[in-house]
Amino acid sequence: MGKPTTNAPNLPNHLGRFHLWKQLQYIFSALGCFCRFPPIGTSSRPRDTIALAQPAWHHRAKQSNGAAMILTDTLVFAGSALDRAAHLRHDPVKMADLLANGGQVLPLWRGKPLIVGGTNLAWVPAGHPVLAHGTDPVFLGLDDGIARFATDISDWSPEAGAEAVEVGFFDSSAQFHPGLPDTHAFLELRGVMTQLTPRAAELVATAKAVLHWHRSHRFCAVCGAPSNPINAGWQRACGTCAAQHFPRTDPVVIMLVQRGNKLLLGRSPGWPEGMFSCLAGFVEPGETVEAAVRREVLEETNITVGDVRYVASQPWPFPASLMMGFIGDATSDDITIDPAELEAAIWVTREDMMDIMAGQHPTIRPARKGAIAYHLIAHWLADTAR
Ligand SMILES: [Zn+2]
Repeated sequence: MGKPTTNAPNLPNHLGRFHLWKQLQYIFSALGCFCRFPPIGTSSRPRDTIALAQPAWHHRAKQSNGAAMILTDTLVFAGSALDRAAHLRHDPVKMADLLANGGQVLPLWRGKPLIVGGTNLAWVPAGHPVLAHGTDPVFLGLDDGIARFATDISDWSPEAGAEAVEVGFFDSSAQFHPGLPDTHAFLELRGVMTQLTPRAAELVATAKAVLHWHRSHRFCAVCGAPSNPINAGWQRACGTCAAQHFPRTDPVVIMLVQRGNKLLLGRSPGWPEGMFSCLAGFVEPGETVEAAVRREVLEETNITVGDVRYVASQPWPFPASLMMGFIGDATSDDITIDPAELEAAIWVTREDMMDIMAGQHPTIRPARKGAIAYHLIAHWLADTAR
């Protein structure tokens, strides 16, 4: 069985032993290689202000030659202590007042948030022309006193770019609204997520997930009649059978499986060329997260896993998952993939993994920076998650 899996610490407890170490900073010359899809647009933000969902920390990783290197790690969407002010959701008068008096609205178009300057969320006031096709706003919370809302404007038809949306692994198209300056565009969140502040990342992750839920749950799951959003978008009510429906999050386990000096990586069909990452899968009803880790690894690679330890979690609004990251100890070596799930699976040595993360491996590309797989691998290389 795995160790207790409390959600509170996103940093392993034993990482604290490193706090006395001198914090060196190693700047990868090929840092850009970590981000499979660089942000659209230009940014003058210095590297050390790139959005971190957790406070920045540095990892000490031992190279095979004994030299030390530091990994700068990020975990996007992992929270910013946003005041969600849930007690206000039930007060429509208060909601209307907040919206009309200083409220800020983030429009999303078919899952893509409005971005300004290529790197920041673009907020507009209630009544702005871009919201003309918007759904009822969802109340996200109070951000330093500012009421934040999100609206789905998917019914709007852009003049160009609509055909590229939601096709393939990554949508690189941009949609421009005639009611906005050309500095504003609807962009794929994956392309900008590592540029966002922790607060912006939490706001947009929440907005994207809840709005997707509304789009895909317009009818009552009990009787099939249309349902209506209530409680500032955090609930849907069926007017026919009175059933109540709540936004759902799908639990996913993602695991770094280790075996001595090597770890197990897999590749799904359709991924960008050369990209490998940790195995992952949905938790099934009736099983623990630890059991889900062992089952998924066995199903996909025929590798057996013994001890399983929780590391961190990450909301992953593509479209509505909660990624729960684990380290697992493999107890077998021979890989047999399930071709329905994986295109390939390989054991990667620590030395090769260092090259991969540095963007210097000839054939394998790393997990996307900001994703929890990257976080798990960085911890493993740093000896802080074993
Ligand atoms: Zn119903």
